[in-house]
This record gives sequence, structure tokens and C-alpha cells, in this order.
Amino acid sequence: MQLPIQSTPEYSVELPVSKKTVKYRPFLVKEQRNMIMIKQDASVMEMYYAIVSMLQSVCLSELKIDELPMTDVEYLFMLVRTKSVGETQDVTMPCIVEDCDGTAKFKTDLSNLEIIQPDNRADGLVKLNEELSVQLVVPSSKQMMSVMDKDESEMIKDLMLVSMTKIYDNENIYDLSEYRDSEIVDFLESLTIEQFANISKFYEDLPVMKIHMKGICEKCGTKQDRTLQGFANFF
Ligand SMILES: [Zn+2]
Repeated sequence: MQLPIQSTPEYSVELPVSKKTVKYRPFLVKEQRNMIMIKQDASVMEMYYAIVSMLQSVCLSELKIDELPMTDVEYLFMLVRTKSVGETQDVTMPCIVEDCDGTAKFKTDLSNLEIIQPDNRADGLVKLNEELSVQLVVPSSKQMMSVMDKDESEMIKDLMLVSMTKIYDNENIYDLSEYRDSEIVDFLESLTIEQFANISKFYEDLPVMKIHMKGICEKCGTKQDRTLQGFANFF
């Protein structure tokens, strides 16, 4: 006789940035083991791959997790973890009081999540002058990770190359998927410093997820607030 394997519950959520609806299940013992193994001394890249691979296995929709914006990946990760290991999670950190060597205990739960999206640029359309505009989209998490090690000016240029989708002038719409990278680079190099900075601003203002936590030091009793940002801190 075969052993009984339970069916797992299914959940559904609309992601905050891409607005895609994802069906998912909690992670199970086998997936949690992989996550724990990577936790010690992992690089940011290893943590990213561990999160993406776990999310891909619990995702029940036809969807590539690494093609989602980073904020959606982080948000889904927090949701899946909540459904898997419980509504709140304890985090321990050193006390903020200078002379205290105690540790403070924090509780996080989903009601403390905040998604910050600059709405003035939500459509990603950036006007360069009277005739010329460019259409930008929020880069995927995979694209963000691929530029992580570059210096800032290279990083911005590489992001533009992968996430600028269209150029508009008075007569034409240029769909950049039909152009070679070298042609797009030539366009970028021909921009004025001000126009380039104007496009860069979009990447500086990408959506972010923050977790606000309230805690108390076990040694000195000082109440303290912390804000976490970036998936490496949510791991
Ligand atoms: Zn303390």
C-alpha cells in the first residue's frame, strides 16, 4: 500500500509591481532544508538563487520567477514563508544602545510590510525633449542581479539596455527589441548629460519593499524600531 501524501493548500496573490496573479503553495520540509543549508555564509547571489528556486517550485502558475521585478520576488518570498512557517517571525539583532551588549527581539508580520512605488513615474515614460521620449520598464530581478557587481554608471547603462523598450519621436515608435545592443548604446551615448540623468532617475526610484519591526532589548529593556530592506535581510 502506498503511504498517504497529503495535498497542500493553494493560495493566490496579485503581485504589487507587475500586477501578475500568482498561485502558490507553502514550502515543505524538502524545500525548507535547501533554504537552511544555504543560509550560512551564503553570498547575495547564492541567496537570490535559493529564493528563486524555492519560489519556482512552490509556484503553481505558468510564470518564471526570475523574470519578475525584485520587489515582487521579495514580496512573494515573504508571503510564501508566512504561509509555510507561520504569521510572525522572530528576528534577533544587537541592541541599538551604545553601551549595551544585549540583543533585541523583533517580531515581523505581513502587516508591517510596505511597498514603496514612486507613482509619478509609474508608467515609465520619460520625456527627453519636445520630440523625444523613451519607455522604460522595471527590470526583472535577474537583470538586476546581472548588473550588481558593476560600478554605478555602467550599471545604469546596462539596465537601460535591457529595460528600455521603446523610443518615441514625432513620427515613429521604435520597438527596441528589433534593434541591436550596439544601436541602442549609440542612442544612449548621443544623449545630453541631463537627459541621461533624467533616465537614470527611473532606476534610482525603483519600487522597494520595507519591513518595519518593533522590538525590545532583553538586557536593558530599550524599545527600538528597525526597518529592513533588500532580500538578503529577509532571508
Ligand atoms: Zn540593550
